[in-house]
Amino acid sequence: MLAEAPKVDTGKSLIQLEGLTKVFETEEVETHALSNIHLNIRQNEWVAIVGPSGSGKSTLLAVLGLLDTTTRGTYLLDGKSVLDLSASDRALVRNRHIGFIFQSFNLIGDLTVFENVELPLTYRGMPAAERKQRVERALERVGMAHRARHMPGQLSGGQQQRIAVARAVAGDPLILLADEPTGNLDSKNGEAVMQLLSDLHKGGATICMVTHDPAHARTATRTVSLFDGRIVQDEQRR
Ligand code: ADP
Ligand code: MG
Repeated sequence: MLAEAPKVDTGKSLIQLEGLTKVFETEEVETHALSNIHLNIRQNEWVAIVGPSGSGKSTLLAVLGLLDTTTRGTYLLDGKSVLDLSASDRALVRNRHIGFIFQSFNLIGDLTVFENVELPLTYRGMPAAERKQRVERALERVGMAHRARHMPGQLSGGQQQRIAVARAVAGDPLILLADEPTGNLDSKNGEAVMQLLSDLHKGGATICMVTHDPAHARTATRTVSLFDGRIVQDEQRR
């Protein structure tokens, strides 16, 4: 009898959450936004986070992105514990290692496209010459090099989201986090942004994306379903 071929894990663990719990306390109620989450994300995975409204998707992304603290549990990012850092060290790790894409683009209206993409690199203390090179390369990757001197308000939503993708990838983050990246776009522009994410994934990016769109979830390599702050399904596709 032939032995079953061993399953080889080539991707290294980038994110390890263990027993992660996030409770929001207001005057009257306690909301368990996340309950005892165990989640391991490997390099070059593309994870879609799905679930009904209020199931904890955005909270999970905010915790992964070090935008929010947690109540209990551990979080290792690239093998290092990041929940016990000071607020300023957390901001450094976030700025250096995490790329964000939001539903509402979140570009700064009175900065040019170039300056928007450059800003996280400036925060990081990167020299101007390297910043310029990185911004130009990132804008080229999303097909927006010719818009560098434009203001965000002069661009369509689809174009603004491409700029936001450029900003997210310019610093070569460990992981890209996207919360409903196509949620404010028509289907044509939404598909264009999905194509961009797909290209980035093929280029080696690790992506964790919240989506409502089942077709978009199927584009990812794995779908994690949340319900009431718990993982109720975790489907690996390839
Ligand atoms: P989703 O993104 O899946 O719609 P969220 O992560 O935004 O869900 O919210 C999960 C739960 O946590 C919801 O019950 C929501 O009301 C609650 N919640 C989220 N943010 C806060 C907050 N800042 N204060 C209190 N409750 C919150
Ligand atoms: Mg949400």
